[in-house]
Amino acid sequence: MKALCWRGQKDVAVERVPDPKIINPRDAIIKITTTAICGSDLHLYDGYIPTMKAGDILGHEFMGEVVETGHAVTNLKKGDRVVVPFTIACGGCFFCKKQFYSACDNSNPTPETAEAVYGASPSALFGYSHMFGGYAGGQAEFVRVPFADVGPVKVPAHLTDEQVLFLSDIFPTGYMAAENCNIEPGDTVAVWGCGPVGLFCIKSAFLLGAARVIAIDDVEGRLKRARECGAEAVNFAHVDLLKWLEERTAGRGPDSCIDAVGLEAHGTGIAGIYDRVKAATYMATDRPTALRQAIMACRKGGTVSIPGVYGGLLDKLPMGAAFAKGLTFKMGQTHVHKYLKPLIARIERGEIDPSFVITHRYKLADAARAYKEFSTMKDECLKVVLKP
Ligand SMILES: [Zn+2]
Ligand SMILES: [Zn+2]
Repeated sequence: MKALCWRGQKDVAVERVPDPKIINPRDAIIKITTTAICGSDLHLYDGYIPTMKAGDILGHEFMGEVVETGHAVTNLKKGDRVVVPFTIACGGCFFCKKQFYSACDNSNPTPETAEAVYGASPSALFGYSHMFGGYAGGQAEFVRVPFADVGPVKVPAHLTDEQVLFLSDIFPTGYMAAENCNIEPGDTVAVWGCGPVGLFCIKSAFLLGAARVIAIDDVEGRLKRARECGAEAVNFAHVDLLKWLEERTAGRGPDSCIDAVGLEAHGTGIAGIYDRVKAATYMATDRPTALRQAIMACRKGGTVSIPGVYGGLLDKLPMGAAFAKGLTFKMGQTHVHKYLKPLIARIERGEIDPSFVITHRYKLADAARAYKEFSTMKDECLKVVLKP
């Protein structure tokens, strides 16, 4: 089959590789019908994530048709159309039973690196380095899905691929980030970062009852999209952001603040320069500009919710402010399995059509060009979909 393989920093190519096979009774083989490139795939492309090997197949946002199942998979049959969570979970361990699927203890066969760096390994992920299990991803013609009796969910025939594809990651990710805010009627939610996850945070915050959402970015095209999602949008490069937020929230600050930016935030001013120097000299790994602002802006007793990905160590976080204001922090990889059915129901009821984030469509054969364009034209390129 053909698959998009990682070869090194900023080097990916579509190559011929062996077809995946059932190796465990709980496996299924899925023929990919639609897949996407995620902002977090660019972390792999740019070489931020260790333990990648040349030849690794990328892609964790995908869906398709079941073509084969192991004998222990009784919930799926050949021909079923499914969307697959990007987190891999066994469904039966201590954490899965608590619905902490992205903390599954059984899906990562190579947990040593994560255990050394994080103290414990989270669940494995499709197409996301050997630290997270080394599973082949879905930017390919076929993929092996482990624990297929737990992860993939059948999708209604009348919904298109593009309407349900993002259940694999970014829609549940934005939704969980908003749910983590414990939104009460009348609340104002501020969202840093208007990429695809940020836009799903905005839409989800409204679905969960927020009265106002304020969107923060410095790319005008993205701010425009945030406005189209119903948010008030502000370019942080043009204002004194903390003062601006305070003035618009009765002097208190937003009730909750969502950092949908994560580790590649490009800061401004002295703190931004300091972060770049520290990251470049490996004294810190992540640049938490958005998170610092979110902590400083959030009202007393509010919640800071973090769907943006962090990988390592942070420097100069205003922990004193967080303590003084009694903030709650909620974060982590999405428990995708938990959200699939409720969010399909929301799509079916017409409350949201997730395909609104798509800006570019390519053939899988052109995936290397898609990565290059996505990484260099981030402004106009919001979400890329690939078709095998
Ligand atoms: Zn993703
Ligand atoms: Zn588990």
